[in-house]
Amino acid sequence: MSAAPILQVDEIAVTYSQLIPALRGVSLTVPSGAIVALLGGNGAGKTTTLKTISSLIRAERGELTSGRIAYRGDPITDADPWTLAERGLVQVFEGRRCFAHLSVEENLRLGAFVRRPRRADLEADLEHIYGIFPRLKERRKTLAGYTSGGEQQMVAIGRALMARPALVLLDEPSMGLAPQVVEEIFETVATLNRDDGVSFLLAEQNAAIALRYAQFGYVLESGRVVTQGKAQTLLGLDTLRDAYLGSGNPGAGGTPGRSRRLRAQLAI
Ligand code: ATP
Repeated sequence: MSAAPILQVDEIAVTYSQLIPALRGVSLTVPSGAIVALLGGNGAGKTTTLKTISSLIRAERGELTSGRIAYRGDPITDADPWTLAERGLVQVFEGRRCFAHLSVEENLRLGAFVRRPRRADLEADLEHIYGIFPRLKERRKTLAGYTSGGEQQMVAIGRALMARPALVLLDEPSMGLAPQVVEEIFETVATLNRDDGVSFLLAEQNAAIALRYAQFGYVLESGRVVTQGKAQTLLGLDTLRDAYLGSGNPGAGGTPGRSRRLRAQLAI
């Protein structure tokens, strides 16, 4: 892992429809070659953070009102999503959005569009994706809408990989999937990170699994980072265990009392 971060987010504040504050000064770093987890309950601001980084927030009437974002050292606050994808920064949406009426392979091919590859390169990249997800090769002619939830998540990740990304913003990959499938998806993330050097910023409610694969984590509550630290450290925090690793849903945004206890444990 090299020292220069691939992504640096400084004090970003985001408002929806000019009045609903969603992020209130979020800062985070993704070191080059790292997997970083962004944790928190419903409505904590994870998706908003990812969409702000990828500039897709504007499509949702969201506005970055202050703060800075740098990708590979360059400011990207005003960049458009297409240019970012060309430069290797791609997002995989929550809910594994696929084009249901296109086949698995057509979905994958669409991901390569930003690179305008030569035919031979495109075919080689497809084979690379099929090597990572052999199940997609078996299902390549099937309409994406008829595949299982796990397969659709693989299509969504595979489509992002067709852009040959350096950094993937991965939103809730575990959502709605059986534990065994979730494990498979995270194993793939680990392999891509290790073998292809892809960095990940991983938004997850399932802190237990995310922190097993990430090196570092941030916990968001009500649009603020309330805790950050090495994955091992976060896994050891009783309060984090109660809030995000237990069986209960942590709920929208968390409670101020819990935030104070988390901060106290980490002395931040
Ligand atoms: P979840 O896991 O439920 O998606 P999250 O941590 O990703 O939660 P966000 O979706 O980023 O949280 O939501 C953060 C806050 O912004 C919430 O209060 C949410 O209601 C609000 N919000 C999100 N999207 C919009 C939108 N398009 N317009 C208005 N408010 C929004």
